[in-house]
Amino acid sequence: MATAGLTGLAPFRNEPYRDFHQGENRRAMEEALARARAELGREYDLLIAGRALKGDGTFASFNPSKPSEIVGVHQRGSVEQAREAVESAHAYFGEWSRTPASIRIDMLRNAAALLRSRKSEFNAWMILEAGKNWVEAEADTSEAIDFCEYYARQMTRFAHPEPLLQLPGETDELVYLPLGVGVIIPPWNFPLAILAGMTTAALAAGNTVIIKPSSDTPTIGAKFAQLLVEAGFPAHSIAFFTGSGATVGDALVSHPKTRFVSFTGSRDVGLHINELAARPQKGQIWIKRVIAEMGGKDAIIVDSEASLDEAVSGVVASAYGYQGQKCSACSRAIVDESLYDAFLEKLKARVAQLKVGPAEEFGYDMGPVINERARTTILGYIETGKKEGRLIAGGGAAPGEGHFLQPTVIADAGPDARIFQEEIFGPVLTVTKAHGFEHALELANATEYGLTGAVYTANAEKIRLAKERFFVGNLYINRKCTGAMVGAHPFGGFNMSGTDSKAGGPDYLLQYLQAQSIAEKKS
Ligand code: NAD
Repeated sequence: MATAGLTGLAPFRNEPYRDFHQGENRRAMEEALARARAELGREYDLLIAGRALKGDGTFASFNPSKPSEIVGVHQRGSVEQAREAVESAHAYFGEWSRTPASIRIDMLRNAAALLRSRKSEFNAWMILEAGKNWVEAEADTSEAIDFCEYYARQMTRFAHPEPLLQLPGETDELVYLPLGVGVIIPPWNFPLAILAGMTTAALAAGNTVIIKPSSDTPTIGAKFAQLLVEAGFPAHSIAFFTGSGATVGDALVSHPKTRFVSFTGSRDVGLHINELAARPQKGQIWIKRVIAEMGGKDAIIVDSEASLDEAVSGVVASAYGYQGQKCSACSRAIVDESLYDAFLEKLKARVAQLKVGPAEEFGYDMGPVINERARTTILGYIETGKKEGRLIAGGGAAPGEGHFLQPTVIADAGPDARIFQEEIFGPVLTVTKAHGFEHALELANATEYGLTGAVYTANAEKIRLAKERFFVGNLYINRKCTGAMVGAHPFGGFNMSGTDSKAGGPDYLLQYLQAQSIAEKKS
């Protein structure tokens, strides 16, 4: 997918994925995994104003496929150090904000080039720290490259805004200014792409940032922060800060010099951050901006006029890709009564073919879930689901040392069931019967979330109706509901799924900018 060319840069194109069935690509990944393995257990420091610092003790991140294995050792940054990070980033903001946009854009493109040349390395760290299989890791790194390339082009646009109406005797212009210090809080499930997307958007716009990665995937965050410095971003423009989300997160969000928070994660943490950021602190002279992208309970509607094979393929890919740990994952299939039984039969057969195993070994469809806490929570939902519906496939843990779970299907869950309403964030799919297309749409909309959704039907009128009534930020017709591509599918949800910021879309950078109108009287 290419977009129209912008000043001086070739049109944007998505980074292609490599095929690991080819020997050369396979070898590159095996070598990268071996190199990453040789670095397992290394200690990483906080980075504040260009200084590498120790915290109040350390914590470790683990390989979810092999939890006895430590991936990285990271600092427990203190509340005092969190304050210092915001104050240093604020002190440097004036200088950084005046850097010409063209220089920041060049740095962003350097970052894209470096990531491209080190794709296998970043994939390897995601395989080891986040439990992504090779293909999912490749998609994550490619998306991070896309964000750098795409936001570089979008920043070119905002650096050269459209001319305004010129009043007689005046020169009238609108210029876009950065906001200030931003706290970047990503989740662990796209530990590179989402972290990179939020960070590079903020930096491209001329803000300084504090990156606070998830404590499950801090090593990937540390590697990316280092890459940004190698790409030319001044060390003072980026702080890298690890520690307890709850303790240092609150300190970073509530600091009076924090100007905005860019968060992606769960509904509850997002709402908490939104509330905390709204409370003005002593000495604070602005309303903090909160960009919050949160959870989902995404549905795929399989209509009576759907191609059953395509629908089953789309549901399986959306429900079990990365073990269902995507905000866009299909967790509800809403299937017309006319093909409900046939759908379940085909689904059961397809799910039985999914292979679960260590992410590091090429060829498994599913790896582990992120940690033992997640596995216990998901198993709890499966037990609830067995009471709320009918178990069709899976239903428990899968063998192995890692946090493995069987791909699970629970049929006949009604709209009031917890497994129909609550985000499970694991390989658990609920199937619900719909009595006609309008009923299917009602069911699909019957949650507080509104992130992604898909409809399988051959009927043009039903497609029109879905476009009118299916209330989700990312709607897909006759395709799966995961795998949004930068530039083609700007991403962000409605209702409790977030502020609909549309990452990877033409308006995204506006959230990291403020516009100033200047009218100069001609002498
Ligand atoms: P989470 O909310 O537990 O954590 C997200 C981040 O917030 C982490 O970095 C965590 O350390 C930090 N955090 C926790 N408490 C904090 C506090 N009090 N102050 C500041 N930061 C704090 O989410 P998670 O488990 O990392 O990620 C999974 C969730 O993310 C799911 O709900 C998923 O749907 C959502 N998600 C949404 C999108 C989207 O674009 N809408 C994309 C990916 C993931």
